[in-house]
Amino acid sequence: MGKKKRTFADKVAKGTGPRGEVCPKCQAVIRNIKVVRAQRSEQNDSWRFVEAVEKVCKCNEKEFLG
Ligand SMILES: [Zn+2]
Repeated sequence: MGKKKRTFADKVAKGTGPRGEVCPKCQAVIRNIKVVRAQRSEQNDSWRFVEAVEKVCKCNEKEFLG
């Protein structure tokens, strides 16, 4: 067969990204996810949406992923 063998290293690289930072508390790999927050402007009393990148691991994933 001409199929390329999938190695364990390939899987790890895909799953964790280039950094593979690990949380010291829960030992889970920290993921950077983009979240959109609603933020109220005091000046003109309107809402704006602000994008932020949050680091998510098992300690706080429930807050972001439900
Ligand atoms: Zn953690």
